[in-house]
Amino acid sequence: MSVISINKRFMKNIISLLILIAVPLLASAQNNNGLSNNKKCISMKAINTLEFPQLPYSTGALEPFIDQQTVEIHYGKHQKAYFDNFLAAVKGTDAEKLTILEVFKNISKYPAAVKNNGGGFYNHVIYWESIKPNSGKPSAKLAEAINKKFGSMDELKKQFTDAGKTRFGSGWAWLSVDDKGELFVSSTANQESPLMDVAEKQGTPILAMDVWEHAYYLKYQNRRPDYIESFWQIINWDVVSGKYEAIVK
Ligand code: MN
Repeated sequence: MSVISINKRFMKNIISLLILIAVPLLASAQNNNGLSNNKKCISMKAINTLEFPQLPYSTGALEPFIDQQTVEIHYGKHQKAYFDNFLAAVKGTDAEKLTILEVFKNISKYPAAVKNNGGGFYNHVIYWESIKPNSGKPSAKLAEAINKKFGSMDELKKQFTDAGKTRFGSGWAWLSVDDKGELFVSSTANQESPLMDVAEKQGTPILAMDVWEHAYYLKYQNRRPDYIESFWQIINWDVVSGKYEAIVK
């Protein structure tokens, strides 16, 4: 056996070994950049230990449904400003040692800056998780719950679309789970959310749609319904289903 062929075989083995090590490492690095993991940390960590999370995809990944410039400004400027202003609003108060969910549960007791910026930050965490470049479909369990509650997927889409279309001014449309494990569609004004004690109906959001003009104006101008139709095409049903199943298990 020549030295060259031994080297070749050696190199082959080394390369296989490197692939075996590198693939799981890369996969876990990707997961750590995803908002799903970040969100778990975000909802469980003291506010003063939070870091601004990364987007789980590139800013251009949602094209043509949501354009790159909108994502750049929405994520990098709007959400970042909410995050910075939220931390500033709780700095030096007892709230900074609590989790976001603990503060939201009693949000009516806090200054408006905490609600506006805390909601402004965290609502967008859920928003970016709610969408992705290649949509899928709800899991069997979520699909069953949707059919039971709404009669059909089309009816859910209609109610969710209406919630977004009819929100006057700025706000959000949500699909959430209430304390009985029931799905419900709602809308909140400005940066309020179903997690807050000021919400008409409280629950845990599994799907969030931003209907502030900054979410769609560059591409859709006044055509909010067109933006909503596009949003529906990029829903991250894997994440939405996962959240649903974690709540009702
Ligand atoms: Mn927004």
